[in-house]
Amino acid sequence: MISCVQDPPFTTGLTPWAQTLPEHISPTAAKAYLGCSLKFYFERVACIRKPTPIALHLGKAVHAALQAFHLARWRGSDDSPETIAAAFDKSFSDLERDEGPVNFGNDIERDKTRLDGLRVVAAYLDSPEAMKDKPRAVEVLLKEEIPGLSVPLVGAMDLIEGDFTAVDFKSAAAKPDATHAAFDHEIQLVSYQLLIEAATGETPPSLDLVYLVKTKTPQIIRVASPPADARRKRRVVALLETAVEGIAAGRHHPQPGMQCSWCQFKNECLTWLPTQQVPMRRAA
Ligand code: SF4
Repeated sequence: MISCVQDPPFTTGLTPWAQTLPEHISPTAAKAYLGCSLKFYFERVACIRKPTPIALHLGKAVHAALQAFHLARWRGSDDSPETIAAAFDKSFSDLERDEGPVNFGNDIERDKTRLDGLRVVAAYLDSPEAMKDKPRAVEVLLKEEIPGLSVPLVGAMDLIEGDFTAVDFKSAAAKPDATHAAFDHEIQLVSYQLLIEAATGETPPSLDLVYLVKTKTPQIIRVASPPADARRKRRVVALLETAVEGIAAGRHHPQPGMQCSWCQFKNECLTWLPTQQVPMRRAA
């Protein structure tokens, strides 16, 4: 097995080889654990490497291009389409080198994916959603103690606008349904609100997702949801804590569902037996 190479907040907080409790929980890790705790085990505890799915690779490169744009807005430096396209290309190649291989069938598929990425990035820069003002923060990593959570909450927000609106960018193949999108990303959005409130005392007026949809004519769609009330926050904290407790207890079992269609660990999953659970000890 190969040791995971991960950067916050995309770690589980686990130190796999020391078998300790999570030092923190991120909304990404919690969602992954709650989605399928066995897949979480294969990916983040056993660190079994698989070729990167194309959609994930493209999403990361698009994300890097948007980050370059928002940082340029923040610094007042070059944010021209040419510079941002170059940032996309660099990330596309660097990720292949550092995290690859990517599941490209051939060079034609690779070229098409790269061009798709350049088109959605250009569409974003050309859209009303492209940030015109100076953002409050870009790629801000926060780690905060949250009441009801037994470990600190960690999250990296793509963008915080001037009025404290938290914005997360998503790449998608098809136009999202607004209600479903907000529900699907509830843990992430409310976690960002909890982190902003704990760090600044301010409540974001909105929790937003901006979708970059790579249809033939790319679409840029903002899905805004209101800030969470106390009940919604309690619900999300309970979900995060459920993940922490499961990870700490080494509870990893198959959770068959729609996600199995695109899971890369089907073969490993078929060999699972309950005795393979890995109990975690609390760190000294
Ligand atoms: S095949 Fe399904 S149940 Fe098995 S690890 Fe993957 S997602 Fe989980």
